[in-house]
Amino acid sequence: ERGDRLQQAVAVTPIEIPGQPRHCLIQVSDVSFAVHRERLLRDQALELRLQSYSDGLTGIANRRHFDAAMDNEIRRAKRAGGPLSLLMIDIDCFKPYNDHYGHQLGDETLAKVAHALSAMLHRPLDLIARYGGEEFAVILPDIGETPSRQLAEAMRSCIEQLAIPHAPSVGAAHVTVSIGVATRTARNAAEPPMLLGAADRALYAAKRAGRNRVTVENP
Ligand code: GH3
Ligand code: MG
Ligand code: MG
Repeated sequence: ERGDRLQQAVAVTPIEIPGQPRHCLIQVSDVSFAVHRERLLRDQALELRLQSYSDGLTGIANRRHFDAAMDNEIRRAKRAGGPLSLLMIDIDCFKPYNDHYGHQLGDETLAKVAHALSAMLHRPLDLIARYGGEEFAVILPDIGETPSRQLAEAMRSCIEQLAIPHAPSVGAAHVTVSIGVATRTARNAAEPPMLLGAADRALYAAKRAGRNRVTVENP
């Protein structure tokens, strides 16, 4: 009807009655509804899977996505022998920010920072994730120490230039981030915990040195 497609199921059942000619029962039924419902369920499953890999507030990858990507990329780096860099990014003085401007503006700022950082990645396998509260992690496959430090510096500068007011910040008048950088090479053969540990140490060195800066640490 009106070019709509009807989904049909056909069942053929042979019927044998002794002494009678053979018959068969052919049943044609409309299964459009079942097919439609199945498609709906499949779409919902896909949507749920996507949701469970992204962070609700910022829309970027979540921690679960990060963990899976990290395992994959370390495996790939082992096979190919290329470098793999990790950035740990933490918003400076974000607790005072929330205390001063309120949690709602805090959420908006968190999303803005996530969006700005994510816009700086262009290669399909680069991944930025929300690692925890106001902390982000970036996986950079095939990127060595020097270019990853340069990208981290560009990210730090980009957030500073958003010029989001931050009155109670200790260093700047605007929202800033500190970034720790660590690189896996064939030589150090870092496993995920070592790489994360090094990037984390680098991040805390950046905090201790006064925030709004990039620090590199070798795993
Ligand atoms: P530092 O410069 O050393 O990183 O100081 P900090 O205040 O940023 O660090 P701390 O870990 O003490 O506080 C992190 C704060 O981030 C705590 C909380 O108020 C805020 N935060 C974490 N997750 C969220 C969130 O989802 N929304 C909002 N609005 N704030 C968050
Ligand atoms: Mg912080
Ligand atoms: Mg933090």
